[in-house]
Amino acid sequence: MKPGIWSKLWLFTAAYFSLVFVNIHLALLALICFSLPVYFLLRDQKKSWCQSYCPRASFLMKIPRSKNQPLRPIPAWLVSEKARQWVVRYFTLNLFFATMSTLMVAVGRMAPMLIPRFLILFPIDVTLPQLVSLDWPLWLTHLSFRFLSMMMTSTLVGVALAILYRNRTWCAICPVATLSDQYLDRKGTGSRFVPPLR
Ligand code: SF4
Repeated sequence: MKPGIWSKLWLFTAAYFSLVFVNIHLALLALICFSLPVYFLLRDQKKSWCQSYCPRASFLMKIPRSKNQPLRPIPAWLVSEKARQWVVRYFTLNLFFATMSTLMVAVGRMAPMLIPRFLILFPIDVTLPQLVSLDWPLWLTHLSFRFLSMMMTSTLVGVALAILYRNRTWCAICPVATLSDQYLDRKGTGSRFVPPLR
């Protein structure tokens, strides 16, 4: 992909967080975001998504950094293999909770959680203004909020790391990169792509 186009992919990230104000169910579009890296990995046997298509990376590169701002060294523990594995575990747990709680809501064993949460633990007690209201099943609305929470948490952590260290510090611990690397290692393709942190 041409660098000019890549630098505009951040618009998809901005659009995602805007669309949830049109209707929360549009947060389900996160499924595309979860599936595309897998599709590109299986198709190309390399991290094409990270290399050329990821809107999150494009978004993080848009975070302004003053030329005079000294670059702080990224602590080794933060980008260690242990940290990467913990982030994968966290997102696996998050997906598990989202799936199980959605099933419980669907069978009427649990009330839907109609607010986003930061890092699973912290509820953000806001009412999202909705431009369009849709009378969809509550379990789908619950799932939409869970997807929004995942996307919001990873974006906020990515932005915090970008401000503290370098724009793409998140890429060093992103579960997509870690799981892709594990897949490529198992395949023995040796075609790892290490994103520039900048
Ligand atoms: S490591 Fe994660 S955030 Fe970075 S380019 Fe890959 S998928 Fe996107």
